[in-house]
Amino acid sequence: GTTRPQVRIVIVGHVDHGKSTLVGRLLHETGSLPDGKLEMLKAVSARRGMPFEWSFLLDALQTERDQGITIDTTQIRFRTRSRDVVLIDAPGHAEFLRNMITGASQADGAVLIIDALEGVRSQTRRHGYLLHLLGVKQVAVVVNKMDRVDFSAARFSEISAEISAHLVGLGVTPTAVVPISARDGDGVAEHTPRIEWYKGPTVVEALDALEPAKPLAELPLRLPVQAIYKFDDRRIVAGRVESGSLKAGDEIVIMPTGKIAKIKTVESWPVTPVGGPQGAGRSVGITLDRELFLERGDIIGHSGQSPRDTRRIRARIFWLHDKPLTKGEQILIRLGTKESRATVVAIEKAIDPGALSNEENSAIARNHVGEIDISLAQPVATDPYTDNPRTGRLVIEVNGRIAGGGLVLSVDAGRPAVP
Ligand code: GDP
Repeated sequence: GTTRPQVRIVIVGHVDHGKSTLVGRLLHETGSLPDGKLEMLKAVSARRGMPFEWSFLLDALQTERDQGITIDTTQIRFRTRSRDVVLIDAPGHAEFLRNMITGASQADGAVLIIDALEGVRSQTRRHGYLLHLLGVKQVAVVVNKMDRVDFSAARFSEISAEISAHLVGLGVTPTAVVPISARDGDGVAEHTPRIEWYKGPTVVEALDALEPAKPLAELPLRLPVQAIYKFDDRRIVAGRVESGSLKAGDEIVIMPTGKIAKIKTVESWPVTPVGGPQGAGRSVGITLDRELFLERGDIIGHSGQSPRDTRRIRARIFWLHDKPLTKGEQILIRLGTKESRATVVAIEKAIDPGALSNEENSAIARNHVGEIDISLAQPVATDPYTDNPRTGRLVIEVNGRIAGGGLVLSVDAGRPAVP
């Protein structure tokens, strides 16, 4: 059957501006709640003599999730007309940042929520900045609690202009700015008479318009070499296809050396020979048409679309170690299956994500984000993460322990790219 494109989103904004309420509403309006759930929670509220809150839905689902009751135990999801929307992680906190920067989770888009009465707050601006830092380019802004400002078009325009200017200043153009009342439902899935002056998309329509990430299989081939095995006279190169696909007969380039060969055979490692192309996520063993030196950590790509080779990387990292990272520090870098000794040659930014103050650029403290220049002891193959989310990530070790992780922002090639 056809698979619906999936978009992974985060919902961010100042505390109490209505994130949980919006999620409860979205689950309801998109028909994603288990039968009877809403009625049950309403009955429980009535029995306890407390008003029903849409945020109870999220609480209830999260409790069930923690107890492993619901079938989908991992994530909160709902469907729009053409998309499966997956809600990832809790916004704003160190955990969320760490997951985003180290690649445990990646958002395709975000909803930034603002209370119409309170307007743009410093936390709102900070969340906008974090989205920019994390490379989230698709941001839908929601102006919530319009019922508290009598659905005033003027108030909406004012907030819309202020947040748009802030985001555009960061290089992010909002995909939509939507006036809503998450509590009452206006603008979430329907245009209601109270917002008849608004002609743009509802929240559900804005989510439906988000572009999903490009499937890994459609990116250029990246096969990081895990090991080389010798059987009689055959040499089998084993690894996991991180992106793209390969098949027998393909012309390949091995980076960082730039050596060229043709793939002779492909087997689905470690079991059987296979005929068709092998795509992202598959472990393969390949043989080549010639004897040449390659080693663990090399990355195989197709001619003309190979990864970059470099000894210098600019990275955005999330730092986990107790001891702050400083300029001149000796570290170990892991890029895919490659390990290399390296030196921090510059610290360009050191940011406390809680305050978003740019500390004086000398050290990156624990749970802070920074941008650094790394000089590697040997050439490595890699990609900027905007080109490839799999090979554009790195892990930093200090004394044998993971001390940080992050994104390859740019690569300063040691020599011209190989054809
Ligand atoms: P969060 O901290 O951002 O998740 O905010 P919540 O969803 O918990 O909402 C905070 C408070 O705002 C709750 O008391 C909600 O009932 C209230 N609230 C949320 N949306 C609306 C709305 O559209 N109108 C009004 N008047 N109150 C709302």
